[in-house]
Amino acid sequence: MSKFFSNKFASLTPYTPGEQPRDMQYVKLNTNESPFPPSPAVAAAVAAESGKLQLYSDPESTALRAKLAEVYGVKPSQVIVSNGSDEVLNFAFMAFADEKSPLAFPDISYGFYPVFAELNHIPYTPIPLKADFSIDPKDYMGVGKTVVIANPNAPTGMCLPLTDIENILKSNPHNVVIIDEAYVDFGGESAVKLVDSYENLLVVQTFSKSRSMAGARLGFAIGNDKLIADLNTIRHSTNPYNVNRMTEFAGVAALEENHYYLQNAKTIMANRAFTVEQLEKLGFTVLPSKANFVFAKSDRVAGEKLYKELKARGVLVRHFTKERISPYVRITIGTRSQMEILIEKIKEIIGV
Ligand SMILES: *Cc1c(COP(=O)(O)O)cnc(C)c1O
Repeated sequence: MSKFFSNKFASLTPYTPGEQPRDMQYVKLNTNESPFPPSPAVAAAVAAESGKLQLYSDPESTALRAKLAEVYGVKPSQVIVSNGSDEVLNFAFMAFADEKSPLAFPDISYGFYPVFAELNHIPYTPIPLKADFSIDPKDYMGVGKTVVIANPNAPTGMCLPLTDIENILKSNPHNVVIIDEAYVDFGGESAVKLVDSYENLLVVQTFSKSRSMAGARLGFAIGNDKLIADLNTIRHSTNPYNVNRMTEFAGVAALEENHYYLQNAKTIMANRAFTVEQLEKLGFTVLPSKANFVFAKSDRVAGEKLYKELKARGVLVRHFTKERISPYVRITIGTRSQMEILIEKIKEIIGV
């Protein structure tokens, strides 16, 4: 730390992204990326826009917001786009949470939530998941805090039914409830259909997972027009050109090819079923996942050891050291052949 670093941030522990090693080609199942490339129309859109890079991007991302509004059945004024959904999550924390409306989120969830809370000096309460790793909706009913729930949750992959989300929304009318749907396209049910009924609902999604665009950095949020206007106040005070022109039109092209991504999501769900079945045959406990990853543990090998042994064999998965989840590894669902390699290496490691 330099002597110039502000005291405001001296105690900040930044988010640790999953490893992106360059030393060799791994079977990469550690950061929940899609194993499928974007549709060819996306590359064509990027190429077309790259010839116009001397010009700023549209600060309102008009074309992309119109397309998102059409696909999600809302008005463009109910949509904001961002540089990855991480950015709009940060904007939402800045806009809707403070000492009077502190944050509440599960103790085991996306690692960025506490980081954004600390960055913005917002008090937060981690709420323990139940013994089975599910979220107890009662813990959030009437809490009078800004609620953040990843649905499906990460790294468990488990879902909360929309009826529970509605009860949380109804019982916290003076607070915003942020539903992070990064993984919703892999079998979950989206809360977008509720945005006209609850003025306190903000739904956040990303192009990074089901839409094969993690490297383009594109996220969005859908909610009541007034919430979106507040988020735009923060965005315009930070970076009005937050989405570059190549990414904006890559997003439009991806939405025009929605069927391609829906088909890929179906393939991933089938590969997930295959992986769960194989892991369970090997005696693993696998949490019920509606995401493009599974969270699994074995009595025969500790989580950290499994992660290391797989890495030594060219397969990357994610391990978290937090005590309650340290027996587990999080495995991204890739292609069928990637999952077959994973299972083969696990058999080698546990000696069956
Ligand atoms: C991956 C992920 C995100 C966002 O990723 P971006 O690439 O910034 O869009 C947000 N929330 C959760 C729970 C995630 O797993």
